[in-house]
Amino acid sequence: MRYHSPTSFTDAAGIAAGASGLTRFLAGGTDVLVQMRAGMVQPDDLIDLKKIPGVGDITRTDDGGWRIGVAVPGIALGANAGLKTDWPGVVEGMELVGSTQIQGRATLAGNLCNGSPAADSVPGLVAAGATVEITGPEGTRTLPVEELPAGPGKTHLAKGEMVSAILLPPRGQHGGDAYLRFIPRTEMDIAVVGCAVNLTLDGDTIKSARVALGAVAPTVILVPEAAEAIIGTTLDDAAIAKLESVAKSAAKPISDKRGTSEFRVEIAGVLAKRAARIAYARAKGEQA
Ligand SMILES: Cc1cc2nc3c(=O)[nH]c(=O)nc-3n(C[C@H](O)[C@H](O)[C@H](O)COP(=O)(O)OP(=O)(O)OC[C@H]3O[C@@H](n4cnc5c(N)ncnc54)[C@H](O)[C@@H]3O)c2cc1C
Repeated sequence: MRYHSPTSFTDAAGIAAGASGLTRFLAGGTDVLVQMRAGMVQPDDLIDLKKIPGVGDITRTDDGGWRIGVAVPGIALGANAGLKTDWPGVVEGMELVGSTQIQGRATLAGNLCNGSPAADSVPGLVAAGATVEITGPEGTRTLPVEELPAGPGKTHLAKGEMVSAILLPPRGQHGGDAYLRFIPRTEMDIAVVGCAVNLTLDGDTIKSARVALGAVAPTVILVPEAAEAIIGTTLDDAAIAKLESVAKSAAKPISDKRGTSEFRVEIAGVLAKRAARIAYARAKGEQA
């Protein structure tokens, strides 16, 4: 195996584009190193992105959004008061990843690019309307987060391409987001179902919303019908009932050792209701 530590994304793209065997990028390594140790993946080229200037930075963008470097560990997201105030749901999704030790290494970019449908940070990013900046041999492009995963363990990145930053839009006024997952234990487990809701208010009425579900399809899914169920409402009982029903219909999970398909469908509805209530309370400036 060849280990590379390029100092620019352009150099990293050049190495990846020229590699003939199996290539993996190395961010926190909490997926890829575990997979290598287990013999599941044996890369010919391992390209460490952590030596590239700026990859450890969280910065405000000119439009009031956020740019998160691809080597920013989970622990640094929660430590950033401004980011946590704007996007508590995104931060709480990442903070659910693993343990304190894992949090010291694991990144949003790695969680996304690993391609797990149960990745805990991805529903929050999708609900937030986050995009990824992608750098490759042809230059730079951006893509909505929900369009990056292609199925379990797969992404739509072309040969030589990598995620070079994660971009969150400006939070704006009267907005809130939330992420909830169900696991059989209290921590250190893979989501059986995850759900994120992001919404903005005009007075008490929901003006815009995005709802994402994890672990109920081959990729994390954006569910526009679930957003439509609550837009224009005050999240009253009728809206909550519609949201629950639509979230359940959108869930197309498999059965596995962590939960049956029927159970996951039921939980998708429950989590959608609960996450929406938390996001709504946050948008109103209430503690939730
Ligand atoms: C004990 C333990 C507990 C865990 N618990 C959870 C959990 O609760 N929830 C959860 O979602 N996950 C969990 N994970 C999985 C893992 O920690 C997360 O997926 C983590 O966010 C991966 O980030 P990383 O930076 O370590 O990725 P890495 O391991 O460095 O990379 C992961 C994959 O993404 C690719 N990659 C990384 N960066 C880029 C990039 N910039 N561009 C393109 N490709 C890239 C790599 O090539 C690799 O295929 C756990 C792992 C362990 C070991």
